[in-house]
Amino acid sequence: MSTVTATRGLVEIHNVHKAFHGVEVLKGIDLTVQPGEVVALLGPSGSGKSTLLRTINHLERVDAGSVTVDGEFIGYELRHGKLHELREREILQRRTRVGIVFQNFHLFPHLTALENITEAPLALKRLSTDDARELALGLLDRVGLADKADAYPRQLSGGQQQRVAIARALALKPQVLLFDEPTSALDPELVGEVLDVIRDLANLGTTLIIVTHEIGFAREVADRVVFLDQGRIVEQGAPDEVLSRPRHPRTREFLAKVL
Ligand code: ADP
Ligand code: MG
Repeated sequence: MSTVTATRGLVEIHNVHKAFHGVEVLKGIDLTVQPGEVVALLGPSGSGKSTLLRTINHLERVDAGSVTVDGEFIGYELRHGKLHELREREILQRRTRVGIVFQNFHLFPHLTALENITEAPLALKRLSTDDARELALGLLDRVGLADKADAYPRQLSGGQQQRVAIARALALKPQVLLFDEPTSALDPELVGEVLDVIRDLANLGTTLIIVTHEIGFAREVADRVVFLDQGRIVEQGAPDEVLSRPRHPRTREFLAKVL
């Protein structure tokens, strides 16, 4: 029987390899993320989590394999059966399909919260100044910071800065949002307000890939937990399965340390 069901993922990672200075840090990663899915990516420090996230929006080139978002490469186009790297301008346009939020916020220090959010839509000429402003105010409201539009990053707490960073990532209406340890740089009492915003996004059906050491949060919001170790996915499945009954010794060892 040859029934073929077309199950195209929103993010498709096929056999991705990546080395730095001859040391392979991604050793053949296969991962498909469906639209609306929330994937928690766990693993010890140095296992390749950040590198894997960065390949998705072509912040990192892969040495072999491929990554597509909604069926399209971010950094390449196919011409005469061969992949050619796109020009920076085109990569920037395509990269807007993928939002990313980093551990250390990476806000522009000389711009207000509002300006941090309107910068990319204006630079990419997506919106008029008025429309960008309206969009930003709506997003600030959504992350609970309607009254902080004119504040500079230094006037905001870490949790507030991270919420601005999330609003900024949303401004380009990405198809998928990547989080790289979004609460790791925060004082413990500020973690909750950021997780609340991420939880809201998950509940709204946003496609999310979240690198986190917040195991309780992963259990609660993730549809799937993927465990990475030394550049390989060693175990994945439903949060309850992987987190309560890990099969792989490396997963067990990691969970014993963080739980
Ligand atoms: P994780 O996010 O899981 O901690 P990373 O993806 O940051 O892991 O790093 C995986 C490995 O790749 C580490 O050994 C790290 O030192 C190395 N690495 C990451 N980025 C670079 C880089 N730009 N140049 C050289 N080595 C790197
Ligand atoms: Mg990392």
